[in-house]
Amino acid sequence: MIERPEGSGWIEVICGSMFSGKSEELIRRLRRAKIARQKIVAFKPRIDDRYDDDDIVSHDERRVESFRIDDAGEILDYVDDDTQVVGIDEGQFLGPKLPDVCEELAQRGVRVIVAGLDQDYLGRPFEPMPTLLAVAEYITKTLAVCMKCGRPANRTQRIIASKERVVVGAGEAYEARCRHCWNPEEAGPDASAEKASGRSAAATGGDDENSRRKEPIQADTKGELSGP
Ligand code: ZN
Repeated sequence: MIERPEGSGWIEVICGSMFSGKSEELIRRLRRAKIARQKIVAFKPRIDDRYDDDDIVSHDERRVESFRIDDAGEILDYVDDDTQVVGIDEGQFLGPKLPDVCEELAQRGVRVIVAGLDQDYLGRPFEPMPTLLAVAEYITKTLAVCMKCGRPANRTQRIIASKERVVVGAGEAYEARCRHCWNPEEAGPDASAEKASGRSAAATGGDDENSRRKEPIQADTKGELSGP
């Protein structure tokens, strides 16, 4: 075991709407830890695989190599005894085990930083992020700029009709909106019915072959890879 100061572990959550700079903030924190020569490991859900055939990458400073996983339960397999910082992007897609995994790491003395959407496109709390917010030591809510009126925006507006909770690979299907300009009806006539039923979708398949492949977390606007 490497020397980790007693009580050094904790959980930081960075959450907000799409286009609010969550990944950017995660990368900023991870980069600073790297500069301090801390041992870091980063993860993002495989649902983000839009970037597989997209070689346009921002500057090296704006990406961090990360492992793609399907479920938060896989994270512990990649964390070594001397890992000091764990970064997780798009936490809303990593399943209900995420809070427990983060708790375990923080108890072990690891600094855990999780970025993710706090609400889906209907404004519903997007688990497991709300649970994580409850147990985290530090919370940062990132705000976007409302694409209609320019006010600070904390909601994600879906601008195409779809009843799926997640429309992947469709950054153009969403806008950041403030609470005044946000309107779930724009996502289609059935959106309200869906909200009432509390239905959730968004499952991803994935092949194990690639499970150890590293992919960058990217911080440009397109880096907000998947919608709520
Ligand atoms: Zn607005």
